[in-house]
Formats: sequence, C-alpha cells, structure tokens
Amino acid sequence: MPELPEVETVRRGLAPVMEGRRILRVEQRRADLRFPLPERFAERLAGQRIDRLARQAKFLSVFLSGGEVLVMHLGMTGRFTVSGQLTGDFHHETGSLAAHDHVVFHLEGGETVTYNDPRRFGFMELWPAEAFAAYPRLIAMGPEPLSNRFSPAYLDEALRGKAAPIKAALLDQKVIAGLGNIYVCEALFRAGISPKRLSRTIPGQRAARLAPAINAVIAEAIEAGGSSISDFAAADGALGYFQHRFDVYDREGEACKRCGGTVQRIVQSGRSTFYCGGCQR
Ligand code: ZN
Repeated sequence: MPELPEVETVRRGLAPVMEGRRILRVEQRRADLRFPLPERFAERLAGQRIDRLARQAKFLSVFLSGGEVLVMHLGMTGRFTVSGQLTGDFHHETGSLAAHDHVVFHLEGGETVTYNDPRRFGFMELWPAEAFAAYPRLIAMGPEPLSNRFSPAYLDEALRGKAAPIKAALLDQKVIAGLGNIYVCEALFRAGISPKRLSRTIPGQRAARLAPAINAVIAEAIEAGGSSISDFAAADGALGYFQHRFDVYDREGEACKRCGGTVQRIVQSGRSTFYCGGCQR
C-alpha cells in the first residue's frame, strides 16, 4: 500500500510528463473506482492544461487550467505508468495488467498516463480550485511529517490523554497525515518505543524522540524513491526501483539490527505490527 513517500515518488515521476501539458482526451473504462468517477469526467478533463501536480499527504492533486483540481488517491494497489516519447521504454503492457487499466490520460505530445488499480480502492474526484482548502477528505487531516506544523510539541498536544496504543494513534490520519503501517513500525523502532505503549505516555521525552524518528524514516524513504511491498510500482513503471531496507517491517523472526534480539510480529487493530521487544519499550 503506497504511503506518503511512495506517493511523493509517483508525483516526482509524473510531474515532468504532466505539468504544462494539455490533456487531449481521457479514456474512462469504468464508471467507478472506489467511488463513482465524477459526472462527465472525460469531457470535463479534455482540453485542460495541467498547471501543477501537487501532493497533500497521500493525495495527488492536478491543478487544471479551467479552475478545477483533479484529486487522485492510489488506494491499496493504484499506480500510474507513463508511455510515449518522453519516457521511451515502457513496462506493464501485458494483457492481465491492462485489464486493470481504468483511466488513460492522452496528453499533448503523445504521452499517455495510465491509471491501473487491480483492487480499486483508489479514487479520482474533481473539486473547484478556489475551494480546495475545504476539500473534505483533507480538511480533517493532521499535519504531514516534515511539515512546519509537525513537531514534538504537536505530538505532545495530539497524544495527551489518549488511551489508544501509539501504533493505532500514528495510523490515525487526523493525528498525522500520510503515515501507514510500514513507516509507523519503522518510526517506532527508530525511536525505541513499543507499539503497545499507551499514547498518553508519549508526551515529553518520548515525543521528543518520536517526531524526529518519523521525519527521518519518511525523508529517507522519499530519498530512496519509496518502498515497495507488493504490487506497487514507481510512476515510470520501474519495478524493482525501490529499496527494501526496513529495520523491522516484514522481518518477523529475524535479528534486530540494534540489539540482536528477535523481531516479533503482533496484530493490532487487524494489522501486523513488527517490533523488537528488546529495545522498544
Ligand atoms: Zn532490538
């Protein structure tokens, strides 16, 4: 499942292809993804110039010359591939994958940007640019890692009095935007904090370790081009581009890189948590 670093990697892959170009036409191959696609979707996009491709948390926002924003979310298995003159060789042209190509953007210059999503938890919506600050799916979200609003002091405030385990609190997008299972596990390991610890015990010294740990794992993952677990690909279709350098995630039974203990797996809120009981307290 793409998390913030993966979505940022996609944005960086798509921006040079999309920004400044006009959308000639859009092939819409189904009526819905996770939600119904907007009414007259292809018609509203045709002829628009793409002014800017931005990202907020795990949302990609395409600012269009006509005053609307195309908001896109990759869900669990969404990905974009780019073909055409700019990028040359192209992957994923097999029949089985093409069956999950749901939306194809034909851009001026001949490039195509194809949205493929086997499980269809992703979605696309159109929203007026002038009201984008009030886009409902973003308005309730907490600050992003690496943003000015995110700090130990913010974590103190957000976690104070909360009974939920810290693992669950960090997955809550209202607390921090853009984190998912992988980077929560990694950040808690980095900070030496048990995923089972109650959130209300974090403010103070632990928050002072946790906030920089979250920033560090996210910054390193963006640097590495995101991290792929299953069927996620970079925007340029370069499968295998991603690094697999997790300290604890998906390493059950292996040696802890810090203390030599054994990485354990537990299930919290229905999701696997990987951690070292020896050095995460
Ligand atoms: Zn350890």
